[in-house]
Amino acid sequence: MIVSESVRRRLEERERLLSPFAARSFESRGRERPEEPSPVRTEFQRDRDRIIHSKGFRRLKHKTQVFIAPVGDHFVTRLTHTLEVAQIARTIARALNLNEDLAEATALGHDLGHPPFGHAGEEALASLLPEGFRHAQQSLRLVEKLENGGRGLNLTWEVRDGIVNSSKVREDILAEGFGTPATLEGQVVKLSDAVAYLNHDIADAIRAGLLAEDDLPDMVKERLGRHHPERINTLVCDVVESSWAATGETGAGREQVSIGMSPPVVEAANVLREFMFQRVYLWEGRRRETEEAKAVVAFLYDYYTSHPEEVQSDFVIATDPPWRRVADYIAGMTDGFALETARRLGYRPSRM
Ligand code: MG
Repeated sequence: MIVSESVRRRLEERERLLSPFAARSFESRGRERPEEPSPVRTEFQRDRDRIIHSKGFRRLKHKTQVFIAPVGDHFVTRLTHTLEVAQIARTIARALNLNEDLAEATALGHDLGHPPFGHAGEEALASLLPEGFRHAQQSLRLVEKLENGGRGLNLTWEVRDGIVNSSKVREDILAEGFGTPATLEGQVVKLSDAVAYLNHDIADAIRAGLLAEDDLPDMVKERLGRHHPERINTLVCDVVESSWAATGETGAGREQVSIGMSPPVVEAANVLREFMFQRVYLWEGRRRETEEAKAVVAFLYDYYTSHPEEVQSDFVIATDPPWRRVADYIAGMTDGFALETARRLGYRPSRM
């Protein structure tokens, strides 16, 4: 296998050409359990593959983004959202000469722990669990413990750090949210997540008949663009330009470097976010949908905490306390499975 070993070595050599601030796979802080290196992939490429082959990744297909179990094949799901984030993150990472493989692996794993029904499901679990609930924490729990029959995926420290620090509040496009990733690649993913959702949420709202592209505030149309591809391009190019110091070509030190956007674009993105809150996120029909989704999650939580022996899942750890097993079970459900299970157990929806 001398020949194939040389494949990984060559890939690692290429990483030496990256920005001095890029994370290099051969300098990774490593895995919880040390492993023999792959002959043909770097450590970060290996993490990417493990995530793609995981069960959590497959479930993303049937989890909601904004609308709950919408009828129509073109609505965004967690899976298509995740792929968009990965693509945007790779473009930005490559443009800044950062480690594209690390950005890709982190992006593909960032939403693995999202419960059913999007943010409604997350809020419901957060209010029910003794320790609260955040999807980024759950994503980390999935890759560290629940996947692979309780052994986890044993990912590198850098990918895990990027995943657990990936979530931001929706209040401000640049808000830190919960933690800052240690690597610039992790920061790229965090911002790519916002670039992706800001745009596909508009597309979904148009698809649902809630707004027309022309309804967007004038300032947003002028600064970001009138159409979907134009807006993504503006945001991506702005991140690259505003974060150019990450390439190491400006002479700035590492502590002065972060991934961000220019003030006019941040302002436009925040106006757009506010507009989306008014027209879409807080829209009456969606609010009812959200209440129903929360009721389903609360019903399931009540039911299974009274009947923990009925939790049948390979996504829970038998020695955990009942509430933890129930939480892991519910968090792993897809929208359809959660609805169907609740109905089977006697939940009567008020409108769904
Ligand atoms: Mg996301």
